[in-house]
Amino acid sequence: MIKKKIIQIKKQIGNKKLIIVSKYRSNQEIMTAYNTGHRDFGENRVQELIKKYNELPKDIRWHMIGHLQKNKVKYIIPFIHLIHSVDSLKLLRLINDVSNKYNKITNCLIQVKIAEEETKFGFSKEMIIDFLNSNYNESYPHLNIIGLMGMATATENKIQIGNEFNLLHSLYSKHSKLSTLCMGMSQDYKIAIQKKSNMIRIGSYIFS
Ligand SMILES: *Cc1c(COP(=O)(O)O)cnc(C)c1O
Repeated sequence: MIKKKIIQIKKQIGNKKLIIVSKYRSNQEIMTAYNTGHRDFGENRVQELIKKYNELPKDIRWHMIGHLQKNKVKYIIPFIHLIHSVDSLKLLRLINDVSNKYNKITNCLIQVKIAEEETKFGFSKEMIIDFLNSNYNESYPHLNIIGLMGMATATENKIQIGNEFNLLHSLYSKHSKLSTLCMGMSQDYKIAIQKKSNMIRIGSYIFS
């Protein structure tokens, strides 16, 4: 089943990048996905991410997609491929400084709050506009900020989801330095792709 779903979804999304969200999934389930040739996996909790990093093949590219607590940054910098969920300037500064200590350049996406729910983390629209207009590459020399990530409101209302993705795309498209627009999950990836997402994060659709 897992294998079939991966093949099916890759067909649907064409040249866009798929991140398989493996949170709560067993090593065996992840290895089934790995054995199709897939290498990009996303986790949302540091403890689980580190455990899986230690136990699974070292050529997996790990993506941190959940809210990152400041005291846990140092544990993931040595191996993380891309942090999707940089949701404050303080976190950005800390990731830069820890990366400096490890003599690394860390790939990051800035998470933008596009949903209406209070609980979703991220830069506000005003903050991200200011940020993208600043000399951020000079201010954060140990970061490689490659794009934006956003989560739409959990709703059945496709128009609302579409509008939220449109907002993120419009912020993204004004900045030619950015290459990655990460939006879309199991429930809304088809809308995200219509709205020009080029990286999607899928968990439950593949594993259940
Ligand atoms: C869990 C999660 C996903 C995947 O959600 P599914 O509905 O299982 O596809 C994507 N992004 C983030 C940030 C998540 O926490």
